[in-house]
Amino acid sequence: MIKLIFASANEHKIREIGSILGSSFSLGSLSDAGITEDIPENEDTLEGNALSKARYVHRLTGMNVFADDTGLEVTALGGAPGVHSARFAGEAKNPSDNIDKLLSLLGNTSNRKARFRTVIALILDGREHLFEGVAEGRIINEKRGSEGFGYDPVFVPEGHELTFAEMSLALKNTISHRARAFEALRLFLARREAKNNKE
Ligand code: IMP
Repeated sequence: MIKLIFASANEHKIREIGSILGSSFSLGSLSDAGITEDIPENEDTLEGNALSKARYVHRLTGMNVFADDTGLEVTALGGAPGVHSARFAGEAKNPSDNIDKLLSLLGNTSNRKARFRTVIALILDGREHLFEGVAEGRIINEKRGSEGFGYDPVFVPEGHELTFAEMSLALKNTISHRARAFEALRLFLARREAKNNKE
């Protein structure tokens, strides 16, 4: 069985991802790897951040590890807030302030196109792999819904009328950027496991 550390301090996320990956993989947290400090996230791309977090844990432990990073990329804002999504309106990481800043920058702009993008960096047997998941959609003018988190109340995914915050988590999980990125990781690991079992 492939054993992996998920380089995230967020226990909720670890449980959620554990259920996506299924029981064929053994998933550990940062504390299972003996890491208690905050891992730096100073790069200027999602790929850079995901890779630097995975490399940090791999350097310290030598273990197989993956890390993720997500951002909202708004076309009319040249891809912002992107890698700065969490702290868009300041260090407090306040989701409501982030949305207010986003809506005020967009103003009456007619191009509301946006996408969420999740990047996962995996280091397996010392080799690096990247996976991506995208949810295309648009930013509406007002906040709607109370489910989810972050920018969910103003993001309507393509092919839908509801915002992510108006959807059940179960529905969001069938179309979200994160679900797609982790499905790509799961498929890769399942193929690797099948190959290992044959050899
Ligand atoms: P993280 O890399 O998963 O921590 O995400 C960084 C930031 O992107 C979060 O703090 C949120 O502002 C935003 N974000 C990530 N995923 C979502 C989502 O599914 N819905 C809304 N906002 C999200």
